[in-house]
Amino acid sequence: MDPLAQHSSETRTVSPLDDDHFHDECGVFGVFNHPDAAALTALGLHALQHRGQEAAGIVSDDGDIFHSHRALGSVGDNFNTENVIDRLKGSLAIGHVRYSTAGGSTAMRNIQPLYADLVFGGFAIAHNGNLTNARTCRRDLVERGCIFQSTSDTETILHRIATSRHRKVIDRFIDALRGVTGAYSLVALTRQKMYGVRDPFGVRPLVLGRIGDGWVLASETCALDIIGAEFERDIEPGEMVIISEDGVKSYKPFAPVEPKFCIFEYIYFARPDSVIGDRNVYSVRKQIGAELARESHVDADMVVPVPDSGVPAAIGYAAESGIPFDLGIIRSHYMGRTFIQPSDKIRNLGVKLKHNANRSWVKGKRIILVDDSIVRGTTSLKIVEMMRNAGAKEVHMRISSPPTTHPCYYGIDTPNKDKLMAHRMSVEEMAKHIGADSLAFITHDGLYRAVGEEKRNSECPQFCDACFTGDYPIPLVDKDGDPGPEQLTLLSEG
Ligand code: AMP
Repeated sequence: MDPLAQHSSETRTVSPLDDDHFHDECGVFGVFNHPDAAALTALGLHALQHRGQEAAGIVSDDGDIFHSHRALGSVGDNFNTENVIDRLKGSLAIGHVRYSTAGGSTAMRNIQPLYADLVFGGFAIAHNGNLTNARTCRRDLVERGCIFQSTSDTETILHRIATSRHRKVIDRFIDALRGVTGAYSLVALTRQKMYGVRDPFGVRPLVLGRIGDGWVLASETCALDIIGAEFERDIEPGEMVIISEDGVKSYKPFAPVEPKFCIFEYIYFARPDSVIGDRNVYSVRKQIGAELARESHVDADMVVPVPDSGVPAAIGYAAESGIPFDLGIIRSHYMGRTFIQPSDKIRNLGVKLKHNANRSWVKGKRIILVDDSIVRGTTSLKIVEMMRNAGAKEVHMRISSPPTTHPCYYGIDTPNKDKLMAHRMSVEEMAKHIGADSLAFITHDGLYRAVGEEKRNSECPQFCDACFTGDYPIPLVDKDGDPGPEQLTLLSEG
């Protein structure tokens, strides 16, 4: 299926139908009509590296043939030589960064963009999100004779395009997408055409930009900035754009639904300098901090962010409360995100490598620690202990999201429900467990106020906030509509 991929030829080590590893966190990028398409794509992916650090790939089209380079590791590690970039010839290119914990040959095979030679020619696709009927779909396709090369949910789209009875590429693509459910922001490439699609709910972001006479698609605006591209607009939920020498054509091929953008993108996942849906992510995070200060004030000497993710909310908290903001924890920038490690053992080690108390400032002080979320509780437990060991008199923890009680099935990696601290414990129990003098989370309404809504509309929430409510807006088909006790997780839990 993929003659161009630079991957090993090991045989599959897991059965695709038994494999739970469908979930991932990703970033996508594409350039149309630029002589340095591959180099710009590498830069764009570099700006999106926070969305996935395990693997990166680029497919380019020189009008004659497609070229591809895909490898495990960061963008910087893999697209750092002129050699690699020069081989990716053409004025069109798409790229992908991903995080998954599927190991060995499976990880290699899952690196995107996926590429296939179909009846109409080459087709490359890069996906951010997660399909909720991938398993069901895959079973049907396998029964019909499709031979899967990866465990990626994205490959089901590819096979659905390949087996569609329609003639035109666009009709095949739409037909394929009408048969899948879940979250998808896609960029795709056929000869001399680039496609961008957002699922009807618009769960994951996707923006359109301009560079000279060319066009850019990117998960976030920070990836436009890095190459000096102008932001044109968000791709709308349920919209498909086709970019060709005739310009940008927009289609709305799906039945309209209420959009459900992922609110966690604002809280943690997107980069603070990005603008999504007219909201600057940094401003939203500061606003959440201010709401948090109003909702759960406590007398203290210092507001300390858990760097880097807690910084904007801590700035907002400090400004609103009048309590000085200070760096009571220093972060080493030579470590990846703590959470993005395959095993608990390494994750524990990672926290120590990553953060250190700024002892002279912390000693004898009443501290308000601000972080964006508590997932397993590993970070909070260590950080509170670190503050106490550094001589803090009181440690109060404030979290800029509501308690994470449910897993995400739409493309953000979270552990199984039973590993989520907030699923197992009350807020009081959590405070006790992490050793904090007090613990408070932003309320649901406070969070909605921070993104500019009056309150959370519980009849029809304005965002997807399933990880805080269990209110899953898109059917979890593979789970028979029931989130169940277990997530189809990417993490191999020990
Ligand atoms: P934990 O230590 O398991 O409670 O994880 C919480 C920390 O991980 C927070 O400080 C967040 O900044 C970070 N985090 C939360 N969700 C994610 C995610 N889906 N991917 C990566 N990091 C995350």
